[in-house]
Amino acid sequence: MYIYKVGVVGAGTMGAQIAQVVSLAGLPVILTDMSDALAQRGVQAVRAMYQVRVNKGKMTPEQLEEKMLLVSPAADLGALADVDLVIEAAPEHLPLKQRVFQQLDALCSPGAMLASNTSALSISALGAATRKPGRVLGLHFFNPAYAMPLVEVIPGLATEQQMVDDAVGFAESIRKTPVVVKECAGFLVNRVLMAYLNEAVLCLEDGSASHREIDQEMAAFGMPVGPFALLDTIGLDIAADVSRILHQSYGPRMTPASLLDLLVKEGRLGAKTGRGFYAYGNGDAGREDAELDRLIKTVRRDGGRRDPQWIRSRLLLAMMNEAVTALQEGVASARDIDTAMVAGTGFPVDKEGPLHFADRLGIDHVLHELEEFTSAVGTRFWPAPMLRRMVSAGFTGHIAGRGFFTY
Ligand code: NAD
Repeated sequence: MYIYKVGVVGAGTMGAQIAQVVSLAGLPVILTDMSDALAQRGVQAVRAMYQVRVNKGKMTPEQLEEKMLLVSPAADLGALADVDLVIEAAPEHLPLKQRVFQQLDALCSPGAMLASNTSALSISALGAATRKPGRVLGLHFFNPAYAMPLVEVIPGLATEQQMVDDAVGFAESIRKTPVVVKECAGFLVNRVLMAYLNEAVLCLEDGSASHREIDQEMAAFGMPVGPFALLDTIGLDIAADVSRILHQSYGPRMTPASLLDLLVKEGRLGAKTGRGFYAYGNGDAGREDAELDRLIKTVRRDGGRRDPQWIRSRLLLAMMNEAVTALQEGVASARDIDTAMVAGTGFPVDKEGPLHFADRLGIDHVLHELEEFTSAVGTRFWPAPMLRRMVSAGFTGHIAGRGFFTY
């Protein structure tokens, strides 16, 4: 199936970014929202993204205008009757999205692909709202879509294989890196990333180090920003919601750190409200923050201060163990898991992803460390059973010539 024309539902943060990515690749895109004003606001956001490219000398003002001719606003889903693909980017609310899918199912041509950009809702449940769930799937772009290459392609229980193949082809055609992910809570990247981010907050609650020290340590490892700066960018309210969904699905090992909810209750949602773990604007970033200190004290457990290497291991082990658990469940292949973590989270390219990194450390070493952390910190570090199997069979990683990969 060739995709000649795309529709986007919801002209907010993600909808506008997706429209920009699609139009940049040369495809016409209709950007819909609930009113003309909202759809126009989305189109202006697309223009602003192109303007940044012009300012950087990546395109000329004439090219900007050419691209903008490809983006049309609409206040009504009816405008999507003749598109080949719809990407829904409405708010993360299941009944609302199900209503949208029901409408799309009735008005789009029978062969059109219906995709959702949902971060965490069930693709199968969206498909179930339609008469043709075989054409419904997840197409999960990452924020900001113009910079993040990864797109998770998520089939629901009823999605046809042809639709999955077509979605992969489409993502490649718009110069993205698609990874097919089996449907599960948090899909692949948010699930593995959140295990790491939550561990960072638990580490802070334990008094192991300050948020600045933890961020510095992970930046030194090679992450583009530390976990607390990243949480502030994502939005602490969104992170708390995702944590709850993961906890509901995976149980105690994903118990959310209570500090996140505390900060949200105080209105500290991150960069968007000017305050989260850090303060934003007016040169506030490096200032002492008495309110944050007070909030941390209310949840502080006295785990004692720890050296940077211990903190780094703790956070990376949480990430690696979740990546192995996802591999065991068949959520994606080892190669795809690493590709997704590099393309979707900025895991350092030279370390090639958490599973390559585990191979480099040695699987026997990773297993031993997880056992130590299980005793010292908690049972959420219980090693994924696959690790023990690998060690007993001599698949101990890079030095042995075989681990998650062969060398
Ligand atoms: P947003 O609130 O910025 O935008 C949502 C837009 O949808 C708004 O403009 C709203 O007016 C519009 N809308 C609401 N009801 C509608 C309807 N019935 N028909 C058409 N438009 C409607 O939200 P967002 O951050 O862009 O998130 C959109 C989706 O993308 C969510 O499912 C979210 O989980 C997912 N997502 C978000 C991010 C992120 O970082 N923001 C990243 C990846 C995925």
